[in-house]
Amino acid sequence: MPINTESLHSDRPEDIVRAAALLTQGKLVAIPTETVYGLAANGLSADAVKGIFSAKGRPADNPLILHVASIEAAIPLWAATTKQLEIAAALSAAFWPGPLSIVLKAASAIPDIVTAGLDSVAIRAPAGEAVQSVIQLCQFPLAAPSANVSGRPSPTRADHVERTLGGRIAAILDGGQTTIGIESTVVDLRSERPQLLRPGAISIDDLRSVIGEISDSRPSGNAASPGLRHRHYQPVNISLRLANREMIESQWASAAGIACSQDLAVELGQRRAPIWIMPDTPEPYAAVLYDRLYTMERSGVTEVYLQRPPQTDAWRAVNDRLTRAAEAAPQ
Ligand code: AMP
Ligand code: MG
Repeated sequence: MPINTESLHSDRPEDIVRAAALLTQGKLVAIPTETVYGLAANGLSADAVKGIFSAKGRPADNPLILHVASIEAAIPLWAATTKQLEIAAALSAAFWPGPLSIVLKAASAIPDIVTAGLDSVAIRAPAGEAVQSVIQLCQFPLAAPSANVSGRPSPTRADHVERTLGGRIAAILDGGQTTIGIESTVVDLRSERPQLLRPGAISIDDLRSVIGEISDSRPSGNAASPGLRHRHYQPVNISLRLANREMIESQWASAAGIACSQDLAVELGQRRAPIWIMPDTPEPYAAVLYDRLYTMERSGVTEVYLQRPPQTDAWRAVNDRLTRAAEAAPQ
């Protein structure tokens, strides 16, 4: 049975209070953060967190990230050494509130369902007035994965959340479009040399500038970061193909959708089938990526050739999401 999903607005103080009240009752509320919309629940309540897994259809082996106001709130949720906490504090001073999740051994108060049975927990302090206000009102950390049905593109606007979770959750707090547009960087501080588990807006060089040498994430299937095993970000009923310039050119006259840079579109001229212009630089690209995928879904095309961005460090997080959203184009 669908439930009534309340529409709340982040610029109304009474709606922020309402969101916190629903969360305190153990309900699920989608909340805007600077990365993507999160589907929040009381992170210390196994029952509330169970609701996240069922609303999203999320595999039980995919752990959740806890969201807190500050490093002071994170420390009691970890069972870590003084040295590890010093590194976490240095990272939080540089990047929190912001898109960096830190993995350390979990304190015993964290329900197993949050960590998917691992002995570690990922924690971050998200940026954004709305999410910070809700966290301040709630006296508990918020467990919050992306507010979408598992496997679909992450939501960067309230209507994306409505599209896949409307009728399944108590409320959506609309805060407009999220600024960063892709999920947080995840770093694991448990070993001697910290390890990058998921690339994001905070780059490996940003991390190195604060804590020195860190090891890079291994390819997908990484046991240390179970979520990377699952399919992600996929628009439904579309074959998304990452294509080089020649392939875009050869498809220009076809009926397939094309997503490419402005320069290439201008060079190749008018076409009849749908075309999406993609930004030329990584941050603006990340900010619109998931919205473009949802727009492609709504357009009714069944095949989209998407121009592969440069394979450079600056594009790393975008390329990570694209690779998992797409089927590789036939060579
Ligand atoms: P999301 O689905 O964006 O909320 O991000 C959750 C992802 O963060 C998971 O799929 C993992 O890749 C990573 N993650 C969360 N908790 C942990 C953990 N305890 N250890 C390793 N990776 C984690
Ligand atoms: Mg997700």
